[in-house]
Amino acid sequence: MKAKLTKKTKLTKDMFLLSFKSDTKLKYKAGQHIVVSFIHEGKETLRPYSFYSEPSTSPNFELLIKKYSPGIGSVYMTSLKVGDEIKIVKIKGNLYLRNKRKKNIFLSTGTGVVPMVSMIRTLSNKKSELYFGCRYKEDIISFMEIKQKVSKINVIISKPKKNWSGSKGYVQDNIKTFDKNSDYYICGVPKMVIETEKKLLSKGVPIKNIHIEGWEKFDKEVDLIHKFGRLNKLTNYFVNKLFKHA
Ligand SMILES: Cc1cc2nc3c(=O)[nH]c(=O)nc-3n(C[C@H](O)[C@H](O)[C@H](O)COP(=O)(O)OP(=O)(O)OC[C@H]3O[C@@H](n4cnc5c(N)ncnc54)[C@H](O)[C@@H]3O)c2cc1C
Repeated sequence: MKAKLTKKTKLTKDMFLLSFKSDTKLKYKAGQHIVVSFIHEGKETLRPYSFYSEPSTSPNFELLIKKYSPGIGSVYMTSLKVGDEIKIVKIKGNLYLRNKRKKNIFLSTGTGVVPMVSMIRTLSNKKSELYFGCRYKEDIISFMEIKQKVSKINVIISKPKKNWSGSKGYVQDNIKTFDKNSDYYICGVPKMVIETEKKLLSKGVPIKNIHIEGWEKFDKEVDLIHKFGRLNKLTNYFVNKLFKHA
């Protein structure tokens, strides 16, 4: 599959909203991601990027990309010009909306908010809540388009300046709703995903109601911990040993 860049907007100092039109209608669930293939130093390179848009807009879709310097994929994506094409080799992902009618709690940091926005766009009952954590006030993106779709948007800053009067610290320490019947979606850097899942489990949220996606290089670690079921010291010990963090 191929998709052409139709619009590029810089949202913050390093976040870009990219609009594409694909050559065929893309079939995906809100919250899933594409795998983009490109050539880097003569080798095929793959990077996953979540849909920021909702499926009904296909073949038009949006991605929100954070540029890491000198990141290979993020520099490739954010250097694209209107009219350039990308190659999509796969659409996949376990993070997708399970039940639209429930109260859903979306917990994210950084670009982990991208699949959350995609899922929220498909909601209509205004019961759900979004938590978004980032380091600085300057990293906050506008949530205008989804404000009407959720009951609350909680923004948490981990490195606030003196003039920040909102929530501070980490997402997992600012969760206000622990509801055994709600579905919880977590996406962000692995440490946040692991810590947040741990917190929810300790508050009695059933593991079947927790849906996660860990980004960066420790994906496997996050997956393993989740699949092992309830976290305990032994699980942590073996997972840490396996990934040499112990
Ligand atoms: C399922 C999934 C969905 C994703 N969706 C999105 C998305 O919607 N938008 C988006 O921007 N990214 C998303 N990512 C992350 C994306 O795939 C790349 O990992 C990211 O663009 C960095 O790749 P890179 O090639 O630029 O960096 P690399 O060349 O792989 O790394 C370059 C440097 O950047 C650092 N780095 C890379 N990623 C991070 C990070 N997350 N935090 C801190 N430092 C980092 C590395 O440690 C390294 O030093 C997703 C990842 C997954 C697994």
